[in-house]
Amino acid sequence: MSGHLILGIDQGTSSSRALVYDHATNVVASAQEEFAQIYPRPGWVEHDAEAIWASVVSVVRSAVSDAGADHAGLSAIGITNQRETTVVWDRKTGRPVSNAIVWQDRRTADYCDALRAAGHEDDVAARTGLRLDPYFSATKLKWILDNVDGARPRAEAGELAFGTIDTFLIWRLTGGRVHATDASNASRTLLFNIHRQAWDTELLELFGIPESLLPEVLDCADDFGTSDASLLGGEVPILGVAGDQQAALIGQAGFEPGVTKSTYGTGCFVIANTGDEAVASRNRLLTTVAYRLGGKVTYGIEGSVFVAGSAIQWLRDALSIIDSAPETESIAAATGVVEDVFVVPAFAGLGAPYWDAHARGAIVGLTRGSGRNEIVTATLQAIAFQSHDLLEAMADDGLRPSLLRVDGGMVANDWLLQFLADILGIAVERPADTESTVLGAACLAALRAGVLSSLEDIGRARSVDRVFEPSMSEDQRERLVNGWHSAVARVSGANVTIP
Ligand code: ADP
Repeated sequence: MSGHLILGIDQGTSSSRALVYDHATNVVASAQEEFAQIYPRPGWVEHDAEAIWASVVSVVRSAVSDAGADHAGLSAIGITNQRETTVVWDRKTGRPVSNAIVWQDRRTADYCDALRAAGHEDDVAARTGLRLDPYFSATKLKWILDNVDGARPRAEAGELAFGTIDTFLIWRLTGGRVHATDASNASRTLLFNIHRQAWDTELLELFGIPESLLPEVLDCADDFGTSDASLLGGEVPILGVAGDQQAALIGQAGFEPGVTKSTYGTGCFVIANTGDEAVASRNRLLTTVAYRLGGKVTYGIEGSVFVAGSAIQWLRDALSIIDSAPETESIAAATGVVEDVFVVPAFAGLGAPYWDAHARGAIVGLTRGSGRNEIVTATLQAIAFQSHDLLEAMADDGLRPSLLRVDGGMVANDWLLQFLADILGIAVERPADTESTVLGAACLAALRAGVLSSLEDIGRARSVDRVFEPSMSEDQRERLVNGWHSAVARVSGANVTIP
């Protein structure tokens, strides 16, 4: 093994980041660059895959140079990425045939409805652990084949390649030598049979996808080829890949069944490790590949809340009642728990466990005494209430954690984490390094490189910053949760009786 550093690439929805770690997983250097979001029509979201690639090249070179290193200083590269986003490119030129269709894009909603009406949902869910929803890659891929000039015949002639962002980056990094993904990303495509760990022939037929488009599916710590010398002056092996939420679970050392992590960024994503059992949810949560190592699959159950940090951005940018996100902490601390005002941030409908695409936001319970401070505090509280509902749904599926590991940009907010512990009634644990996602990708690469010898090593490298213990009375907790559910009932026809 050469080098003494690991490069982690985090290709996210709004920015690309590169972090350089030493072999004790301390951050040595980092760089971040935003790229354009493309909204061609209401409900459509696209990225220019060339712009993504340019941003990745730029942050990689900048972070490696800031670390005072070059290719020779690096033992391995790990990649984590926005999941489900779909790219199709020409195998000869490497050029995308269209913009990438982003995970948030809803253009295939009618097609998903039609498949559901035709009775396909249970079968698709049994094979993939997912739901028939535009969120996942398959219907986006079909849209490209059906709508981009010449795409389908060229795909059928074997001229094109499909990939989620990890696959596209691996292709580009290796100069077109490797067409591969990992099992965690594959499990988000709606084409991958999570029980057999193979592309599902019946699903390829259902969605009309030629098999020749698909990448090879590897473990999360595996040999994904070497980066071309043109990137860093010499080749570096790519040894770790995982989708962003699964990578966060790994960065949080969530290796035992029952361990649950929640990432609070723009949205909020919870994954509970379910070990070698693929637990099918009774509450419309998703079953997913948490990671696959040495051919052995570890499953997870996942739920998402669409609006978390973006509600704080709304306070800042739409309402203009705060100047910056961190200000919410001092406002809430001075205001104290708000009992009668509830903000329901259903700006884009409600996710798990409600799945009500038609719900819209509301502020409920305003009186003449309610002002800016109450609205700001109630917005933070809403993030905890949404987490509560998700964890109750998981508990009904048999997964009730005794502790929640949290990460992401919002967890800098101590007041939020204390309120979260109070509402969940369990301890909330914040690690010293809250960038769990890219840390997870780097750990996978380090594992394959032999820098870390086992998952236990990853656990040992993780350190806890602070544990928030619940201290609210049961009475107050119940009052608040009941008040929240009444507020949700005002905006949604979905059944709000959480089991
Ligand atoms: P993403 O990876 O989804 O871009 P991050 O993990 O970087 O998101 O988190 C950024 C989000 O966290 C933003 O929406 C921001 O409003 C919110 N945020 C950042 N700091 C705080 C804070 N101290 N209190 C509340 N929210 C915060």
